[in-house]
Amino acid sequence: MSPRGWALLTLVVLGAALLLSVALLIPWSRPPAPRADQLAALRDLPADQVERAREFRAALRPGVWSTLVVGLLVALLLGLTPLGARLVELAGRPFGGHWTAQALVGGLAVVLVADLVTLPFAAWRQAILTRYGMSTNGWGGWTADLLKSYALSAVVGAVALLGFYTVLRLAPRWWWAFGAAGAAGLVLVLSFVLPVLVEPVFNRFTPMEPGPLRTEVMDLAARDGVPVRDVLVADASRRTRAVNAYVSGYGPTRRIVVYDTLLREATPAEVTSVVAHELSHAKHRDVLVGTVIGALGAALAVVALYLVGSWGALLRLAGVDSIRDPRAFPLLLALVTVVGVVSTPAQAFLSRRVEVRADAHALALTGDPVTFEAMQRRLSGANLADPDPPRWEYLYSASHPSTVERMAAARAHARKAR
Ligand SMILES: [Zn+2]
Repeated sequence: MSPRGWALLTLVVLGAALLLSVALLIPWSRPPAPRADQLAALRDLPADQVERAREFRAALRPGVWSTLVVGLLVALLLGLTPLGARLVELAGRPFGGHWTAQALVGGLAVVLVADLVTLPFAAWRQAILTRYGMSTNGWGGWTADLLKSYALSAVVGAVALLGFYTVLRLAPRWWWAFGAAGAAGLVLVLSFVLPVLVEPVFNRFTPMEPGPLRTEVMDLAARDGVPVRDVLVADASRRTRAVNAYVSGYGPTRRIVVYDTLLREATPAEVTSVVAHELSHAKHRDVLVGTVIGALGAALAVVALYLVGSWGALLRLAGVDSIRDPRAFPLLLALVTVVGVVSTPAQAFLSRRVEVRADAHALALTGDPVTFEAMQRRLSGANLADPDPPRWEYLYSASHPSTVERMAAARAHARKAR
């Protein structure tokens, strides 16, 4: 069989593995909370809070969608016209036009241009966050965050670009196989090191202080059968007034993190309710599951790029002869961007299924739907979240069920428990 035949076979096998993982590892069974309960929950929220949240979201919306549309258009412009190839050439020229210079400097230049065109929208967003009192870091802090994230993507990008184009040269016929393995490996490694190498660049993490609350959440974890060494507190207040908690990493790097803003704003019982939700993510290994699904998706994408990359019409548009040419990188980036935009609703859908299970877990573990609902109200109020967002926006990108869905789930749980 030719390399192309093997690639097609690998594409089918990876696709099947991806579908199977999604079917088996994502919780599908739980029905959505009844809409009548959701509407009742919405009526119970203070009208001025709902109005202010909707005003805030409406102010953010043009920037959010402009980022998406402009980012996509620029990626297509660079990838489907010879402009991107020219940019790679120009960026590589001061370094002698060697392939490593084109791959590394040219590749990073393309990524930088794609980032810079959406920078005004990021600044617009920060201005709105400041106007609504959500941001606490000022423009200096915002700029520092931006530079840090550019530096991080430059490091990761440099490793990925050099690795990718080295493999392309060493194995011109089989690069897609090594590339797929490398992309999957990179996803696994990045998710693993995120809590220990990346998150500390942006925040300080300290173990929760000993006291009744820490004792309570550690007892809860023990009761749940989840081994937890510590709950970490992030100094989120340096940047935002939003309250949140999350789990990141897997295996030895797994950690449960709560924002210091949450500890400041919420009652101890509400914090416990949030930790109970996070314990579900830890117990069901949701980060690892998401990472494995992401790794399969990344491998699949590399094989698909190889197959699509032999399409003459596409190469002619990009002004290159072969997908292996570093000057074809903008074309690859354009294809990846399109896949990202198209797959966002599917990713959001899977995320919501996992979050619904975590909510159900928290309700069962604490047996306290009243506090759970109070916490959802507080989250929505503090984060200026639209409790019942427009359907199209929810379907496109909501990673969590809406506030009214979560409140309704608590009410359904309370009814069943009675
Ligand atoms: Zn969650």
